[in-house]
Amino acid sequence: MKLQERTWAEISLGAIEHNYRAIRAAIPSGTKFLGVVKADAYGHGAIEVSRLLERVGADYLAVSCLAEAIELRESGIKLPILILGHTPADNVPLLCRYGITQTVTCEAKAKEFSDEAKKCGDTLKVHIALDTGMSRLGFLCGGKHFTDGVRNIISAVNLPNIDAEGVFTHFALSDEPGEEAKAYTENQFRLFCDVISAVERESGFRFRIKHAANSGAVLSYPETALDMVRPGLLLYGYGDGGRLGLKSAMSLITTVSTIKHYDAGVSVSYGGIFKTERHTRMGVIPIGYADGLLRSLSNNFSVYTDDGFAPQRGRICMDMCMVDLTELPGVNLDSRVEIFGENADLEELSRRAGTIPYELMCSVSKRVPRVYVG
Ligand SMILES: *Cc1c(COP(=O)(O)O)cnc(C)c1O
Repeated sequence: MKLQERTWAEISLGAIEHNYRAIRAAIPSGTKFLGVVKADAYGHGAIEVSRLLERVGADYLAVSCLAEAIELRESGIKLPILILGHTPADNVPLLCRYGITQTVTCEAKAKEFSDEAKKCGDTLKVHIALDTGMSRLGFLCGGKHFTDGVRNIISAVNLPNIDAEGVFTHFALSDEPGEEAKAYTENQFRLFCDVISAVERESGFRFRIKHAANSGAVLSYPETALDMVRPGLLLYGYGDGGRLGLKSAMSLITTVSTIKHYDAGVSVSYGGIFKTERHTRMGVIPIGYADGLLRSLSNNFSVYTDDGFAPQRGRICMDMCMVDLTELPGVNLDSRVEIFGENADLEELSRRAGTIPYELMCSVSKRVPRVYVG
């Protein structure tokens, strides 16, 4: 079977390379670039995207778990890889063997990692995560936690068999508009810098890589670039509001598999939420929620065809859904149908689904083949 027969995702590596260069041009020269390729590179294919980033000169990659990191190493990726999320301490031998950097989120974890690394006679490279206001992972160090936070970080970086190469924090509101979000982000950044200063002053220890900027901060808070930036979304062409001239990298494409003609008054798909109001030429497209087309979009969006937009009708099923082609006589069996991409805006589709582009990109499921162009 050719990949482009049922439903597929076209990934433009050229667009990702363009976005990489556009982000590079927007950050101070000399700043390292970490490309976030977790969740299969936001659905774009972690191996292909990582190979591209390695070739064009990125400095670091980040994933969310050990399995994602090993997949990249097994496919020959040599760049440093940072795991942003949880890895159980008994995996330390694997982290060391594959040369993977692990995030350390509290003193107890640091101790476990150190003990395991000592057992296997190796040194584990880590980045220390600071919780400056995301209230997720990381050493608490805001307000009354400042002194304890600094002390705990100093103990962590001094543990045996641990090499604390880096330190980072994550912004909660850097992509939100408004003065409150700005003040919140600036506070997070100030706290981050203050904690690092205190740790370095009190212990004499020096972090080699300090980083904070996700996509929102790369765009709106250039002063947070420090030693390295850490964008994900921007690489895939979203989140810049047009300011960097990014290109969307993924188009989700399907075809028309069947065309039927119904009289007025016919109930379409599960639950009968749509009834034809006129003679209707209805196409069936082979994409459903098991491919990542969220069921919550049912009856609430349009697909793009070479003849124009066709409204989707009735409940989205697991493997297919229906589109109204009555006004589009040029659309026939096997015509190309775009769910999102170059012509059908993913941000608009996300708003209709009550979510964000991140979720729709990550939702494109494993059975949808990725076809690389450019
Ligand atoms: C996912 C993630 C990023 C990338 O976020 P974007 O908004 O896609 O740029 C950066 N840092 C951490 C810790 C993350 O979890």
